[in-house]
Amino acid sequence: MDSFEYNINPSRVVFGIGSVNKLPEEIKKLGCSSPLVLTSKGQNGMLHGDLLTEVLSKCSMSAAATLNMAVMHTPVPVTEAALQQLKAQAADCIVSIGGGSVVGLGKALSIRTGLQHVCIPTTYSGSEMTPILGETDKGKKTTRSNPKILPDVVIYDANLTKSLPVAICSISGINAIAHAVEALYAKNTNPITNLLALEGIKKLAEALPAIARDPSDLSAREGAQYGAWLCGVVLGTSAMALHHKLCHTLGGSLNLPHAETHTVVLAHALAYNAPAIPEQMEKIASVLPDSDGDAIKGLNIFLDKLGVSRALKDFGMQEEDIDKATDIAMSMQYANPRAMERDSIRELIRRAWSGESAK
Ligand code: NAD
Repeated sequence: MDSFEYNINPSRVVFGIGSVNKLPEEIKKLGCSSPLVLTSKGQNGMLHGDLLTEVLSKCSMSAAATLNMAVMHTPVPVTEAALQQLKAQAADCIVSIGGGSVVGLGKALSIRTGLQHVCIPTTYSGSEMTPILGETDKGKKTTRSNPKILPDVVIYDANLTKSLPVAICSISGINAIAHAVEALYAKNTNPITNLLALEGIKKLAEALPAIARDPSDLSAREGAQYGAWLCGVVLGTSAMALHHKLCHTLGGSLNLPHAETHTVVLAHALAYNAPAIPEQMEKIASVLPDSDGDAIKGLNIFLDKLGVSRALKDFGMQEEDIDKATDIAMSMQYANPRAMERDSIRELIRRAWSGESAK
């Protein structure tokens, strides 16, 4: 076996249907009693806030404040406004409930204050398992990694994902699969990562079509959550390559939506790298149903089955942006299994823009 290094990220996980009711106990275990509750803007965020108020009140606990203000890409002005509230209310820990946007705000506050962070994810972004924080300020996205960013406790309760529409389940789950795919060929990949990544892809590849067939299938929703957990772990411990860098470029400079962009780009980025990673392609194919040993075929079938949009032009990318995105992608420095060849990268981006299948 080759030598390798592996960092185990030390967060506590409470998994299972109904486990949101353990929140007061988890807060007490941290030595805290007055959480700042974070949710996203909109109806769903309000419902999550109300649920936590009820759960906390059963144990004679209440939130210092509930802020329904998290938005995509963690804008610094939103974090600063939340920070003022946190200080004014003298909260002693942070509880975030929602998708990756809410988790991001929780991380941004936790790293600024040193307060412990309990995270209750309701999508499959995997962010709750990573020590990574992406923030935007004045139109620029920056990403940093620090072990202190990692949430202290994560509560996974599939009941909370029942309201997640099938369309968001699919793209959020594919976002998670993308973490695992890139972990398999990361420069710091290792046997532990491989194990987690393949199991994560397998679980999501089974669960997402099952959710699409029957959105009330709670066991499929639980399977997807478990898969997303594993994919989040590998994202937090692996160096990402072409796929994530491209999505970062497209999302950051063209303002394209996060999970939707991952969904469109994944098969194309994998097809680009395929000649350099034959062993990993075989492994990915082995966990994708209907692949017949061909990972790209399996991925194309999987994406078609979910009925997700496969064209970046559907999300506002213009044809003239193809060259701009190619220039930015070519200027970035990072380890990728296949060397960056400008014409092929441009063709990859063009196919993703137009919605043609990966090949
Ligand atoms: P999101 O948090 O924006 O949620 C997507 C939508 O789903 C929102 O409208 C939200 O209100 C809704 N929603 C969430 N849970 C719901 C539920 N249970 N029922 C109904 N609606 C629900 O999107 P996301 O894909 O979860 O996360 C994307 C964000 O996470 C991006 O900002 C991305 O940069 C970040 N992210 C960070 C990491 C990391 O490691 N730092 C990893 C992945 C994603």
